[in-house]
Order: sequence, then structure tokens, then C-alpha cells
Amino acid sequence: MNKHPRILLSPPHMSGREQDYIKKAFDSNWIAPLGPNVSAFEKEVAAYAGVNGALAVSSGTAAIHMALRWLGVELGDIVFCSNLTFIGSVNPILYLGAIPVFIDAELDSWNMSPVALEKAFKWAQEAEKMPKAVVVVDLYGQSADYEPLLEICNRYGVPVVEDAAEAMGSTYKGKACGTFGKFGVYSFNGNKIITTSGGGMLLSDDTQALDKALFWATQARDKAPWYQHSEMGYNYRMSNIVAGIGRGQLTVLDDRVKARREVFGRYKEALGDIPGVGFMPEASYGQANRWLTVMTLDSTQTSTTPMQVIEALEAENIEARPVWKPMHLQPLFADNMYFSHEEGLSVSDRLFDRGVCLPSGSSLTVEEQQRVIQVVRRKLLGD
Ligand SMILES: *Cc1c(COP(=O)(O)O)cnc(C)c1O
Repeated sequence: MNKHPRILLSPPHMSGREQDYIKKAFDSNWIAPLGPNVSAFEKEVAAYAGVNGALAVSSGTAAIHMALRWLGVELGDIVFCSNLTFIGSVNPILYLGAIPVFIDAELDSWNMSPVALEKAFKWAQEAEKMPKAVVVVDLYGQSADYEPLLEICNRYGVPVVEDAAEAMGSTYKGKACGTFGKFGVYSFNGNKIITTSGGGMLLSDDTQALDKALFWATQARDKAPWYQHSEMGYNYRMSNIVAGIGRGQLTVLDDRVKARREVFGRYKEALGDIPGVGFMPEASYGQANRWLTVMTLDSTQTSTTPMQVIEALEAENIEARPVWKPMHLQPLFADNMYFSHEEGLSVSDRLFDRGVCLPSGSSLTVEEQQRVIQVVRRKLLGD
């Protein structure tokens, strides 16, 4: 048995205020779905992001699903999607029977490459397979470069869904992530920067679109005295208890961003001098929330691989993870199309080969982080 308590990659970090909101829900017996916490949480998140409205649902994946359905994605349609991401960005495309086409990342931000996106649109135009939507991910809490990406999507007349599941509290040119597409999406899954134990939010300036998403998310019940249904719906609504946790978490979001950025700063300071070690760059156009600190190992300068670092950490009861395995490498998507950043350079593959996600929780103490740093240094330098 290892004598050290386990250090997790990104554990929940409660503020203590969540209990107040939950208690109010219990005291008023507002346990069942809907209720005052849900509508208050929606208003508070919309105000935080600076959009007209928000819809609280059971997960970030459900929010993406509702967005794509509203955009008319149907059986056999094409949807473009960031290639370097978590499967939650892509599964909703499959729920609708549509076909994801994957777009590579760029080196400066690790997010969707405008060069690869343009290539994909040229192909789509020629093949007469225009996508119904483009799902753009803000990876590891860093905003994608929306100016060039939106210019391209607008030119082709295709709407964007911003998957900001990892990027709540991040900005692009002073504006909150989650506000750049027709729809934006946050996740409150247990490992995200703030959590409700599980949940998600759909954001938009189009409140009518959100009303329609609410209708679908609550079993698509027609306005009639009996249970009547003309469309297929889902049971996707967030509960009043869960929303109470979210309201407590939202009050400390800015502190959580600050803490995660400090965690990143300490890693960079303590490991940045080691030959071959790099970090996910911070693009100059915005502020990342540094949801996870991602270290890279350049194989031309060090013989240690990311998996060896992860195993060394695991041996000390510390959780670390590889970078998301790119979607075009997933067995599920063996037959799907993929557009790389350059001929012969798939940025996603390179980042997957080189990256390690280090423990980055906002509750990580300096002493715990020292333990992580020591193990990584020892593995890379043998000291
Ligand atoms: C977590 C995550 C999701 C899914 O969110 P859930 O709330 O877990 O459904 C989608 N996209 C990205 C990029 C994520 O990291």
C-alpha cells in the first residue's frame, strides 16, 4: 500500500455555499425537477457569460444534442467537429444519425485549425456535402481562435456550436467562452472547473431557440390538458437540487480560474527548464482557465515518453492522463473523413503523442503539487 493519499487529476472542489441552496430546496420541498434554483442558475450563468439566455440540462452532451437538433441536423447530414476532443463533443452528432467529419488542430492554440477547416469546406462544396453545423471545441480551457473560424463559417453560411465544456471562465478578446456560436455549451461534470456532480448548460442569444430546446428536453409535451406529443423528446432537464450546487459553485468560479492558473504557473516554473519539456501555449488573444495543465515531451530532446511519466506518477498514487486520443484514431470513426492542418502534419496526432495532463485541481495544495513535480523531475532527469 502506498502511504500517500491519492492525488486526482481534477476532483470536485466545493465552496461550502452549495449547502445553502440545497437546504432551501429541501425546506421548500422543491426536490423534483424545476423550481427556483434552476431558473436562478440559468439567469446567473447567462449573466456571467453575457448572453440573453441559458437552459440547464442534465449534461454538456445533452446540451450539444439540443443545439444540433435545433440546427436541423438529421440522418445522413455532415457535421464538422474538432478532432482533438473528448467523445462528448461527437456523440450527439451520432444520436441524430449524422456523420462527423473531423478537423485538425493548430499548434498555437491546440484548437481547430482555420487552415484545415477551409480545406474541409472546399471539399464539402465540391462534393456537395455542406455540413449542417460546425462544433468548435475550446480545448483544456483555451478558447479557439474565433475570428478566422467564424469568418470561414459565415462565408459558407454554416452555424457554429461552441463546445466550451472545458472553458467556463475563459475569454477570447475579452468576451466569455461559450458565447461565440449560435449556441454555446458548458459542462458541470465532476471533473470540470465547476461541477454540479453532473449537468450542462446550453447558451444562446436566441431565447426562442432555447424555448424550443426546453420543449424537447422535457419530453416534448404539447400544450394540452392531457399528455399529448407531436414530436420526439428527451428527459434532459436539470433538477432543482443539482442547480443548487451549481449556484454555489458559480460564486467561486473566478477563484477557481485563478487557482488553476496558479497551478499551471508552478508547474511551468518547476519543470520548464528540463530539456524537451513544454506546455500547452496560451494564445495571446485571450485568457485560458487552465482547466488542465498539459505538459509536452519532445522526443528529439528526451527519451522519456508521456506514458512512462504517467506510469511513474501512478506508482506514487498520482493520477495523470494522456491528451485526448484524437477522434480520427478512434475505432468508432475508422471510416470517417479527417482534414489535417498540413499535408503530412497532423497536429492532433503530434499532441496526442507528446502530451501529459497533470493533476490540476483548484484544491491541489502546494505540498501535493511538490510531490507531483518531484516524481516528474525524477523520471525526466533521474535526480
Ligand atoms: C466534458 C466534456 C463534454 C461533455 O460534457 P458532459 O457534461 O460530461 O456530458 C463535451 N465536450 C468536452 C470537450 C468535454 O470536455
